[in-house]
Amino acid sequence: MESKRYYGVDVGGTTVKIGLFQDEQLLEKWSVPTDISDGGSHIIRDIVRSLPGPADGAAMAVPGAVLPDGTVNRCVNLNWGVCRPGDEFAALTGIPCRVLNDANAAALGEQRLGGGRGHESVLFVALGTGVGAGVVLDGHVRAGTHGAAGEIGHLCWDPSEAGAPCTCGRRGCLEQYSSATGIVRLAVQAGVTGLSCKQILDGAAAGDPVLEAVADQAFDALGWGIAAAAAVIDPEAVVLGGGVALAGEYLRAKVQAAFDRFAFHACQGTPIYLAALGSDAGLIGAALYAKDAGC
Ligand SMILES: [Zn+2]
Repeated sequence: MESKRYYGVDVGGTTVKIGLFQDEQLLEKWSVPTDISDGGSHIIRDIVRSLPGPADGAAMAVPGAVLPDGTVNRCVNLNWGVCRPGDEFAALTGIPCRVLNDANAAALGEQRLGGGRGHESVLFVALGTGVGAGVVLDGHVRAGTHGAAGEIGHLCWDPSEAGAPCTCGRRGCLEQYSSATGIVRLAVQAGVTGLSCKQILDGAAAGDPVLEAVADQAFDALGWGIAAAAAVIDPEAVVLGGGVALAGEYLRAKVQAAFDRFAFHACQGTPIYLAALGSDAGLIGAALYAKDAGC
C-alpha cells in the first residue's frame, strides 16, 4: 500500500502542537502560539501558515465538545463558539481535515501506540486541571451523540450539600476531587496550604499521613468514577494520562485498588496503565484519526 502523509494538530489554550506523519510515523513536530484574540479567528490561519507542504489528510484535536459531523460546540479556552474549523483548514489548504475532542485524540493515540497498546477497547482518563476522558471501542473513538462520551469529570461523587461547587454549575463533581486543582483544594481543606498538586502527591508517596489521606480521597473518587464508566463500556484496559498521572506507579496502584473496590465483579481486575505518549498523545491521535478516515 502506498504510504500517505497526515498532519496531526493539537490545539491548546496557549500552544498549538503540530506533527507531520508518514502513515503512523512522526516525521517532524513543531508548535505555534495560540492567538485567542478576535474570537480565536486567527488560529487556523496561523496553523496553516506553519505547514511545510501538502499532505493527504489532517485532523485537529480541540479542547471542547465536537459533534460527529465535525461541528465544534464551544471551546471556551480558544474563544470559539459554534464553528467548523476543519472546513476552514480544508478551504485554506485543500487538505481534508477532521476535528475531534482533544481527550478523544489522546485516547486514540494511547490506545493504538501508547499505554493501551494491544487493547482494542480503552478508556483513557486525562488528569489535569480538570478530569476528562476519551472512549475507544473496538479501535474507534466514540465521541457520543453530543460529543460528551467520557465526561466522567462531572459524575457526581458527593451529592450532599457539602459537595464542592463545580465549574459546570453543579456540586460534588468528581473533577473537584481528583483533578490537580481538586487535590490542592482537598489539601487546603485538610489544613495544608501552599503546596502544588505534585508536592502533595510526592509527600503522600513518601508517607506523610495527612497528605496520604488527601491522596486517598482523590484516588477513591477517581476509582469510583472509572468503575462507573466501566459498568457502561466495560473496556479491556484503562489508561491514566495528564500531568497528575506523572505521580506514576504510586498513583496507578492506588487507583487500581480503588477501582477494584468499587467495580462490578465482572469488571474487577481490568488493568489500569499509565499513559506512554506524554504531551504528544493528542497530535499522534489526531493523525491516526485522519488516517482512519482514509483521507
Ligand atoms: Zn461538574
